[in-house]
Amino acid sequence: MDGLITTLQRMSIHDGPGIRTVIFMKGCNMRCKWCHNPETWVCSRQVQYIKEKCIRCLSCLNICPARAIEAGNDSMKIDRDKCLKCGLCTQVCSSGALSFIGREVSTEKLWEEIRKDIPYFKKSHGGITISGGEPMMQSGFVKEFLGICKQNGIHTAIESNMTFPWKVVEEFIPLTDLWLCDLKHADDAVHRRWTGVGNANIISNIGRLADRGVELCVRTPVIPGVNDSKEDIEAICRLLLPYKGKLTYTLLGFHTLGFGKYESLGMVNEFLGEEALAPEKLEELKNIVSKWIAC
Ligand code: SF4
Ligand code: SF4
Repeated sequence: MDGLITTLQRMSIHDGPGIRTVIFMKGCNMRCKWCHNPETWVCSRQVQYIKEKCIRCLSCLNICPARAIEAGNDSMKIDRDKCLKCGLCTQVCSSGALSFIGREVSTEKLWEEIRKDIPYFKKSHGGITISGGEPMMQSGFVKEFLGICKQNGIHTAIESNMTFPWKVVEEFIPLTDLWLCDLKHADDAVHRRWTGVGNANIISNIGRLADRGVELCVRTPVIPGVNDSKEDIEAICRLLLPYKGKLTYTLLGFHTLGFGKYESLGMVNEFLGEEALAPEKLEELKNIVSKWIAC
């Protein structure tokens, strides 16, 4: 089966135990306004343009069959509605300013790439993590690939937004050693406002997974003005309290890494200019969490 991925990130130490190779799937059903991986939102290939690398040779403009590229004052402009995603511009761009985001790969081919990392996994008790984007958007491909990993004794983790119905989530249980999922706000309407999706399925799936005894880590990315008050965090702790001892809960600090991707994809970032969360603020909120539920 074929799937669409953005990148493989090797030697990762933040997405599960040991050294991990993280596979970023393309396609997401949420639209978190502070997202650090906006290149994963759309489930199709996209042209990325990095202005700083452009030498203004105009080769792209001349070859584009859709006339989707224009020369602006200080950069090339791509009309993404006109773009046919043919990739010709990326082939003639010698400076690397233009590239395609999104690579089709079969589960077999992906395994061929991943198996090179097995010595690192073995030495560090690591494995693979499927991230995104939302892995369950390409559930057939991801399940097939997780199955290959399990057959080969590789530890598997999945980072999911957990918004899918339980019957979809449940099928991943035998294939997944570690579940990583975010709960971004306790209030359904507020959650919907900032992410585009309500939180009912997320809360219900977290509870069901916890009751099934899987290894489950719930995280909240702490975002200024969204969920960074004591009350916001306590409200999430209250929701998770019935599952104390069956999951871990941790907070992640908002940062601005990856924000440059928005401009390169012709996207608007509403959090542009926002400062990273101060470490002291994160510590303060973590102290609150530790009073409620194991961190
Ligand atoms: S991918 Fe093709 S259609 Fe789109 S901008 Fe490049 S050359 Fe034009
Ligand atoms: S081909 Fe590349 S370097 Fe040349 S103008 Fe287009 S984006 Fe810039």
